[in-house]
Formats: sequence, structure tokens, C-alpha cells
Amino acid sequence: MSKIPSNDFSLYDHVLDTAAMVGAVPSRYGWNGGEVPLDVYFAMARGNQGRTQDCGQPGHEHTAYEPNLTAMEMTKWFDTNYHYIVPELEDDQTFALSSTKSVDYFLEAKALGIHTRPVILGPVTFLKLAKSPAEGFNPIALLPRLLPVYEQLLRRLSLSGADWVQIDEPALVLDLNPNERAALEFAYGQLSKAAPELKIMLATYFGSLGDNLETAISLPVAGLHLDLVRAPEQLETVGRLAPKDLVLSLGLIDGRNVWRANLPAILDRIKPIVAGWPLDRVEIAPSCSMLHVPIDLRMETALDEDIRSWLAFAADKTDELVVLAEALSKGRDAVADALNASAEVAAARATSTKVHDPLVEGRIASINSGMKHRKSAFSERTRVQAGALSLPPFPTTTIGSFPQTPEVRKARSAHAKGRLSYVDYETFLKKETKAAIRWQEEIGLDVLVHGEFERNDMVQHFGEQLSGFAFTQHAWVQSYGSRYVRPPIIFGDVSRPNPMTVRWWQFAQSLTEKPVKGMLTGPVTILNWSFVRDDVPRPEACRQIALAIRDEVRDLERSGARMIQIDEAAFREGLPLRKSDWKVYLDWAVECFRLASTGVKDATQIHTHMCYSEFNEIIDAIAEMDADVISIETSRSKMELLDAFTNSKYPNEIGPGVYDIHSPRVPEVAEISALLMLARERLSDAQLWVNPDCGLKTRKWEEVRPALTNMVAAARALREKV
Ligand code: GLN
Ligand code: ZN
Repeated sequence: MSKIPSNDFSLYDHVLDTAAMVGAVPSRYGWNGGEVPLDVYFAMARGNQGRTQDCGQPGHEHTAYEPNLTAMEMTKWFDTNYHYIVPELEDDQTFALSSTKSVDYFLEAKALGIHTRPVILGPVTFLKLAKSPAEGFNPIALLPRLLPVYEQLLRRLSLSGADWVQIDEPALVLDLNPNERAALEFAYGQLSKAAPELKIMLATYFGSLGDNLETAISLPVAGLHLDLVRAPEQLETVGRLAPKDLVLSLGLIDGRNVWRANLPAILDRIKPIVAGWPLDRVEIAPSCSMLHVPIDLRMETALDEDIRSWLAFAADKTDELVVLAEALSKGRDAVADALNASAEVAAARATSTKVHDPLVEGRIASINSGMKHRKSAFSERTRVQAGALSLPPFPTTTIGSFPQTPEVRKARSAHAKGRLSYVDYETFLKKETKAAIRWQEEIGLDVLVHGEFERNDMVQHFGEQLSGFAFTQHAWVQSYGSRYVRPPIIFGDVSRPNPMTVRWWQFAQSLTEKPVKGMLTGPVTILNWSFVRDDVPRPEACRQIALAIRDEVRDLERSGARMIQIDEAAFREGLPLRKSDWKVYLDWAVECFRLASTGVKDATQIHTHMCYSEFNEIIDAIAEMDADVISIETSRSKMELLDAFTNSKYPNEIGPGVYDIHSPRVPEVAEISALLMLARERLSDAQLWVNPDCGLKTRKWEEVRPALTNMVAAARALREKV
């Protein structure tokens, strides 16, 4: 590798690093300038952990806990599953260079004899991702104040011996307004002058430059990085329009997925452009940071040999980059073996019977519009369901999971390690399920759940039972902080060899007269939280999962389930980065939900759940999903977010969350009643269900018991009143 990045390691998050770098520390953390210390940094990331403070008296030192020192908000980084810390900027915000991490890391590598290219997050993306407590204030306005800090840093890097710096501006793949484009022009006009010896590689990723392309290629920078995995077509345009002295960094190896590349095919694809560009101005790179892929495939000793041979994790991807670069500089013959191996793997995968299942492909071909509609409209179904279910007004239920106690986790892990037999594990799970059913009956919930004690994770549990999915032992990717996830890998056509949830549902339903909801994860969520195959379009892969879930829904119904919930927690986060791409996504995502959910009788009530409620812009799509009941997260928003559902935009039933499950706090009956009154201002009584915001798996029984008891009391009080 000839260009080795540095400052791409973070103790918590690189956006938080940037906030520390420019001294954007909200005042509540009590920081008084200077280098941002680690305890402040971690208080920003995770809330206060109890800081040691000198009380001022000689000889005394005590630990002062500041319980109200909350962490900064965290949100998803573009369309990845990585979370960054959202910068908070006041309208009178000032900035000062307050962390020299990028310089320190450069020097550390230099001392080891490695000359690196430091990576920093660009000022415009930083401001665009920031939020401000000042109403109506747009942080982009702070750019002139922010730039001097960046300029100072660039000078420091240059003085330390850096000849290049990579500045990431992924905002360039978003919809930008003229003001934001002007901000980019202003910023790079200034930064290019800050340290004349230091060359800037401006990095864009996660999509196409699109209508920002002209802006990007007009900026006075030495190099431009393009994501040619997500947006291969932009290479031709950039090649035609960009000035020839620009260094093009070609993002050719997928930094977002786990598949080995077809290297000869890539070389063929870039031939025309590379032919017309000076070779010393071409760099070969991954499409984006490899933060989003696992590191080391060699640890996956349990994977099927063929599947393993199709995969490339970060280490292998680095090798692929080197092969591509050598093929360009020395000719293909110099790396013939590697190129042949790559092509052979691609060919083997393309024709493998492990990937292609003619039965699945046949079913996909025979999908017809009848499979995407319920038999009757909601107005008719709701009548039939009311007769069949005879629920009270304001029915109470929960979202599915009950606390995953240390005992539950211990039993699962003992079973996984072979220390607890299948029979004993199942006996344990049955005991937990039975206790949960009994308790729900006792407190008077109307619609029960089995509790999900048998599930490790809402996607993994299904992936493990579906054909076409592979699981790894160590392929962790960062979600946030020290939290990592191990997404399943969809490698082939998906089908459901056997029922997945029917037995547990049957067991739970056998214990009670009250309806127990069948509980499934929806196709869009399974897709969005997995590594997806790159040899079929996403909608196609999603349709296959949808048909598998449809089979499960029908089996549940056949076994007697009167209500089936299909969770779509990741439905909204799958929205594309560009508004113009939303409709296409929403169309196939809705279609897949309907494929999964509509193969039932009118009397069978379909529920769905989503862990948020900012539905304003997509309310039509949510309505199109046509679930009979949707439960959403609303308790913190004081029901204001329910406004999207009014104006007859959403005729079906809704359970707005009235219990904030993200907090250990137990809500009082009066609080829940007040939330219900607010919901009633926006919805009709006939639409309204009463439930918590989300599943209760992360809570303790000591919190859940009183909270749900209060919730039932609030619903009962309301019934008496109306
Ligand atoms: N049924 C799941 C549960 O209750 C839903 C979780 C989710 O939507 N994140 O845990
Ligand atoms: Zn949820």
C-alpha cells in the first residue's frame, strides 16, 4: 500500500473526535478550554460516569456525581448501521483547536517509519450533521468561525511533515441547497491556501455526487475520491469534466459489503478512463472507510468452504487493492495468478447451486398482484376482526419481548456452548414463557405475547432458520462505542424449509384463552440489518425473504393465530440518502411487507411495529402497508409526532407508545393517562391501542411489572370515562 491513512482510529467516534478537535463541547460538560480531556470526551459520548472533583478544601477530595449530565445524541451515520455523536452547536458558538489527535497519530506513525495520510472530517459535513438548540439556527452559518481552526490544524500537519491530508465530505452525496454548495466553495477556497505545501484529497462516499458534481470538481483541491461501487456511472462524467491535474482516487473495492471483487471485471470497467488519465494521478481505494466491514476472514473456521471462498473482509480487501494497483502500474501479467483466482471465484459463485434455488426463482417469477392485497379493505376487515376478537376499547398489549434476564442469557449461552442440553434449555424457556403468560393474565393485558425468550436477536433468530443465510463467529462491525453487531450474510436464494415460530406460539397460546400474537421480523428489516448479496438487486432479495415470511404467517394462521405482528424496525432507516430515490425504495419495501402479510383471512389481524414515529414524509407509504394495527414509539414526543397520522391520512388502528422503555423510570398512571388524552386529540377512540414504545428485552422485571400494571390501569380508567 502506498497511501496509508492515519487518524482513522477513534476511542469512541470520529465525529466526536472532530467536535473535540474544534472545541465544540456543550457547556454542560463544564470544559474550560485547553486540550479536551478524556473524561470530558467520554462524558459527551456516554453521559457522566461520576467525575472526581476537588471540592476546594485542602486535603479533601470527593467524587461528585452529576446525574443530569446526559450524553450527546447519537444517530446513524448516513445509511450505515454505525452511530455517530451529533455535534451540538450554539448560535454564538466559538471554536478553538482543542485536540491534536490527527497530528499526534501522524507523528506516532512517522516515528515508526510509516508516512501516512491523515484523515479528518470536513468542516461542511461536520456542520451539516450538527444540531443546534437555538431555534431556526442553521449551523452552516458558523463556517467562517470554524475554518480558522481547520486552517491551523492543516498548518500543524504540514509542519509535522504531512504532504497529503484526506478531508472527508460525504455531505457531497446528499441533496444540498445552493447555500451549502457555496459553503463548500468558500471552505475549500480558504483551506487550499492554509498550508500551500499540503495537498488535499477530498473524499466523497456512500453515493453519487449527482447534482453536486460540478461543485466537487471545481473545488481547489489536489485530489477527489469517488465511490465507484455505489455509483460507478459517475466515473465517466468526472473523467470528462474534471481538470486533468486532479488526482482521482477510485473507490473500487466495496467498503460496505463482504464479497470478494471480480478484479478483471473491475479492470475492464475502468479501462477507458484510466487510458485517458495520467497514471500518476490515479489511486485505487476502497469505496469508503472499511469501518463497516469485519476484519479477518481467517477466523471464520466454521463457515462453509465455498461461501468462505466468496468473501473478503477488510484484510482481504486491502490485498485486492494492491492487486488492482499492480495490474494498472505493471500490467495484468504481473498479477495474472491473483486475477485468475478472482475471476474463477466469481464464476463459481455465479453458478453455484448453493446460491441459486430454482424453486425460489420460480416462486418469485409467479408473484401476482393478488398476493399483495388483503381480501377486503380495512373498513370491512376491522368489522370482521371486531366480531372475532371482541376486544375492549383501548386494548392493551406489548411489543413482544420481555426482559432478557441474566438467567435467560446464561441459559442461552450454556446451551450454545453445549453445557446445557437441548431438552433442559427448552424446559427452561417453557418455564419462562409460562410465567410471562400467567403474569400478563394476572395484570389484565388484553393481547398477550410469548416473550421472545428463545430469541438471541430479532434478525439472527430468523436468519438461522432460513436457507440462504450464513452466520459468522467473529465478523463484528461497530455499531457505536464498544457495541458491535455481527450481521448475517445473505449469500443465496432465501427460503423457509420449516416453520420457525409456530411451536413457541402454539405453546404460549395453549396456556391462555386470551389471544397471543404471532411474532415475526419483517422482510425489509431482515434485509436492512444483513450483509446482502451483490449479485441480485436489493428488492429481489427482499421479495424472497417476504415470501418466506408469508409462508410463516400462513402457518401461524393455520395453527390458529388470530393476530400476527410483523416488526419492521428498520423500515424507515432503509430510506435512500437522496430524496429522488425514496419513491423507488418505498414502493418495493411496501410491496415486500404486503407480500409477507396479506396472505391471510380478513379475520386475522396483522400488526406491525416501528421503533420511531417521524412519519410525516412517508405516511402514505406507511398507510399503503395496510397493517391492521401499527405500534410506534411516541412517549417522548408528547404525541406531537402523531400529527402525521391525522387528517384521515391513516385510517387503520394505532398503538402510540405510552411508556418510554429506553429509561429505567416507571411511568405513573397519571402520566400514561395524560399521554392517552393527547393521543385522543389526534386519533379516534376506535383507532387507539395502548402499549409501550418498544420491546422490553433490555429492561428489568422490577421496572416492567409496575410500569405495565400502571399502563393497564390507565387504559381501564379511560374505558370507564368514555
Ligand atoms: N418484537 C420485538 C421486541 O419486542 C421488536 C423489537 C424492535 O422493534 N426493535 O423486542
Ligand atoms: Zn421497537
